[in-house]
Amino acid sequence: MTLNMPEIAIQPTRQAETWVASEAARCLSCYDPPCQRACPASIPIPEFIRSVRTGNLRYAADLIREANPLAAVCGTVCPEEIFCQTKCTRAQIDSPLKIRELHSLATLFERHSANIEHEEERQRVAVIGAGPAGLSCAVKLKTAGVNSVIFESREIAGGVPRNSIPKFRLPDSAVDVDLNYVANIGIDIITDTVIKNPADLLYEFDAVYVATGLPRCRKLGIPGEDTSGVVPSLFFLDEARAGRIASLDGRKVVVIGGGNVSLDVASAAAHLGAAEVRLLYRRGPLEMKVWRSELDAASARGVAIDYLTAPKALVSDGDCLTGVKCVKTELCDETDSSGRRIPREVPDSEFVVAADIAIVAIGMTSGYLRDVTINPDLSTSIPGIFVGGDLARGEGTIVEAVADGKKAAHKILEYVAQVGK
Ligand code: SF4
Repeated sequence: MTLNMPEIAIQPTRQAETWVASEAARCLSCYDPPCQRACPASIPIPEFIRSVRTGNLRYAADLIREANPLAAVCGTVCPEEIFCQTKCTRAQIDSPLKIRELHSLATLFERHSANIEHEEERQRVAVIGAGPAGLSCAVKLKTAGVNSVIFESREIAGGVPRNSIPKFRLPDSAVDVDLNYVANIGIDIITDTVIKNPADLLYEFDAVYVATGLPRCRKLGIPGEDTSGVVPSLFFLDEARAGRIASLDGRKVVVIGGGNVSLDVASAAAHLGAAEVRLLYRRGPLEMKVWRSELDAASARGVAIDYLTAPKALVSDGDCLTGVKCVKTELCDETDSSGRRIPREVPDSEFVVAADIAIVAIGMTSGYLRDVTINPDLSTSIPGIFVGGDLARGEGTIVEAVADGKKAAHKILEYVAQVGK
């Protein structure tokens, strides 16, 4: 196979070239491909793999980018165990294709995108939030002929991928590729700007898309939560990614939670040199809603998981955190709304886990748009305001947020076509 060599710093090795050729050749080009149906961004998977197989990696990159405005980020962090790869027909023969790896490699061959100019220069839509959903929506609007401007409350655009995912999982270079694409096609992002009331923007814009995500961590609601040394997960991840936590050398870290964010936090703490990282989870391993790869990565970094353990209080010496008072739990036969068995405390089972730092990772929330009703089609009780991403759906993956942004763009295009008449 001949590769069209790209003008990029990363050059594929001969070994990689051989692997790509043989991996792409395994694709069966299925009719009604199940992999594609399982991709939230609807990337034309067999088609891009066919391009990879024939050596046209630039075209493969274009196909991926057209379907997924965050092509480089998703090629790096998309969870293999819940989307396309799990549905690959080859799994019934030998093993599923490594679709994410092929996607990631093809993205390296993307050519520079040019500014997309429209006859109408006016920015008709305001997007609030420069994370995956907001960026995806703005790109889809732009490619459909509608200009938008993105308002971002933080100093830098990119949302969770740029600010919170540990760099050892998602390097800046991948985020830069996607943000450069957004800038190159001519989308303006105004950072450091808080929009208190999205409805105010309707004086200037035909529609507003709100994709502010879930920026607040849920609180435990137990004694001692304000103790020095107790930090919310997002704060910790942001500080770690920004390099403002140089080292946790010798510290004992306890992470409270049982989701993928808690595993990211625990892995990041271990990566920063913590002497001990313990993750406390109130249910058992079967109830833990995490990706196997994340769990394995955390275990490989030495993270210990205490299942069936619930925090009761944060303990201090009067000044700083010294430990987490816990209680053992057992699971009832009844299940909660998530379908998981409900934990109950085991009497007289209290104990204290020593800790210098406790990181709370029990879920995210938002206080934004509290009084607004969100409709199933992502419109709201305020005409012209649409919502999406984690704010509307709850915590999800990056590629799901990308899909949300695309879906919202379709609704917004219908709406602005109507109001523009
Ligand atoms: S399911 Fe697997 S074999 Fe079928 S088209 Fe998708 S990647 Fe190819």
